[in-house]
Amino acid sequence: MHSAANPIMPIPGLIDPVPVPRAVTPREDGRTDLLGLSRPQIKGALEEAGLDAKAAKLRSKQLFHWLYHRGETDFEAMTDLAKPMRGWMAERFVVGRPQVVEAQVSVDGTRKWLLRSDDGQDYEMVFIPDADRGTLCVSSQVGCTLNCRFCHTGTMRLVRNLTPGEIVGQVMLARDALGEWPKGNMGSVAVTPDDEDEDAPQYSPDGRMLTNIVMMGMGEPLYNFEHVRDALKVVMDGDGLALSRRRITLSTSGVIPMMARASEEIGVNLAVSLHAVTKEVRDELVPLNKKYGIEELLQACADYPKASNARRITFEYVMIRDKNDSDDDARELVRLIRKYKLPAKVNLIPFNPWPGTDYECSTPERVRAFSSIVFEGGISAPVRTPRGRDIMAACGQLKSASEKKSRAELDRLAAEKQAALG
Ligand code: SAH
Ligand code: SF4
Repeated sequence: MHSAANPIMPIPGLIDPVPVPRAVTPREDGRTDLLGLSRPQIKGALEEAGLDAKAAKLRSKQLFHWLYHRGETDFEAMTDLAKPMRGWMAERFVVGRPQVVEAQVSVDGTRKWLLRSDDGQDYEMVFIPDADRGTLCVSSQVGCTLNCRFCHTGTMRLVRNLTPGEIVGQVMLARDALGEWPKGNMGSVAVTPDDEDEDAPQYSPDGRMLTNIVMMGMGEPLYNFEHVRDALKVVMDGDGLALSRRRITLSTSGVIPMMARASEEIGVNLAVSLHAVTKEVRDELVPLNKKYGIEELLQACADYPKASNARRITFEYVMIRDKNDSDDDARELVRLIRKYKLPAKVNLIPFNPWPGTDYECSTPERVRAFSSIVFEGGISAPVRTPRGRDIMAACGQLKSASEKKSRAELDRLAAEKQAALG
């Protein structure tokens, strides 16, 4: 299970994925972190540690429930395990959480956490409370290789894929922080060996703060496809966190070859970062467009809902002054969406500035005019109110503090890691 691959790497090129075939971060104490593992993976880990298949199956079911339904991290508290079994587990396993380096709260209630992985990589997650919902914005990578010109994350020099544990860990940590694990004893859901279809209470979003998840933090989720898929499967599992796929949205900048697989293997809602309607402008804003163009992308969007039953696609459109915000742009957007007969909605996101950017936000009048044209074209085009700008938590502002290290220092650290991991 501990395949060691280099966790840090310099950016390989403008638009190529970073393959990091590593699902579990090796721990110095030799124990295995169960965080993020699926039921069969937990079973496998238990078998590797010496349990027979039948016992491993039973225990994996119990552990899965404790981990993801109850949020328990202490084996001693897992009361339906015999005492010696709890000790046996604690010698071999841990249930970890990402390390929190810093937690900030915006004046508008948005919260941002700076997290650190075991190998010292920093990434962020953001929680956005609203009247009727609470959305956790989850990162899929440390940094991003895609270098979109308007995105702060795209300027991070080192990139690595997050593991399933680090992705699920963000959701677990948010639940911890919001105090949203069910309390009371587990008597009613005790598992017996032949109890295949236990009647565990299901989560409902009612009354909870964390109701929705968007894969819109740092990174391009479709460049970390397997880990994101495995993590979201754990998050959607009815016996654990049990978030419905209808309440999860994956945002991509347009990695066309992975979109069909995302539809079939994950099946959550899709958001596509369009941002421009001409090749010239999209090439500038989203360099991936040079590889996968607008028309191809819209065709892939037209194919997406068929396989996943997603109701409609959301297009994200960052409003940048004098760049992509003219009336003609709005009309062209309507024409394109109609041409591909897309069941679509457009989210207009006023550009969020960050230190060193070349761009400015469109004026409020421009945003309103653009929105009206799209709306008159029969397509819903709400304007997103920026959230958490004061703590640099808004869309595209995420960039971790590790960046404060100099380039030379980062190169040296990367080289050291590479040498250490062979
Ligand atoms: N990589 C994925 C998901 C993360 S970005 C993607 O690009 O879709 C999440 C959203 O924030 C995207 O729509 C992205 O285009 C938008 N975004 C990035 N930088 C921004 C900025 N400076 N202002 C407003 N939105 C931004
Ligand atoms: Fe990466 Fe998305 Fe930012 Fe582009 S907008 S650099 S794809 S995180």
